[in-house]
Amino acid sequence: MRYEDQRRLLVNELRAAGIADESVLRAFSRVPRELYVLPEYREYAYRNQPLPILLSQTISQPLMIAIMMEHLELKPDDIVLEVGTGSGYQAALLAEIVKEVCTVERLEPLSLDAQKVLRPQGYDNIYYRIGDGAQGWQKAYPPYKEFQKIIVTAAAAEIPVKLVDQLAEGGILVVPIGSGACQILTKLSKQDGRIITSTHGGCAFVPLVTDLEGRKA
Ligand code: SAH
Repeated sequence: MRYEDQRRLLVNELRAAGIADESVLRAFSRVPRELYVLPEYREYAYRNQPLPILLSQTISQPLMIAIMMEHLELKPDDIVLEVGTGSGYQAALLAEIVKEVCTVERLEPLSLDAQKVLRPQGYDNIYYRIGDGAQGWQKAYPPYKEFQKIIVTAAAAEIPVKLVDQLAEGGILVVPIGSGACQILTKLSKQDGRIITSTHGGCAFVPLVTDLEGRKA
């Protein structure tokens, strides 16, 4: 079956699973996932499952990405921080909807590979940084101090404080929290300077590796 047809089926599957945000569904119908998976996995690109990418990392499961994006309540004017560029697939989906995406990846080869795919796709609203995303967006262009939306696509042992600091008033942060194989999808909203937290079921992400842990190892 042609990739376009497979993509249409995936969007139907997401809709049937309860994804109702039309902007999210439209983004999935536009971004060719086959470009972001390893060549040997291309035939599985439209299965609703995570797939391996280089350096023992994964491209997330489409339904989980869609659920996280729905929780973010994305608006066209939003500036979004993504922690964990990985394959670049989620950055592309976000860039289809919002004004700008700032994406951080700690593994340089992954960031460079993602840039190689994303730039020819014409995404001039994505900015890249290589480093520890748990520290937020620092020493990077554009010099944003805060974001309307923040998405962490790796599992954090606890809520990353620096990211909460970089969340704008009225903003939303979505992050998997937990140190085991299964984590809890957690949503934080900043309202009148206060943080409101809610949990949204189980999920399974690769761990968020902070520089601090790297030094301990
Ligand atoms: N959004 C990605 C998912 C990639 S998996 C996609 O659509 O493909 C999570 C990624 O987070 C991995 O590439 C991993 O290297 C990265 N990561 C882990 N800890 C990190 C950290 N502290 N800062 C930035 N990236 C991190």
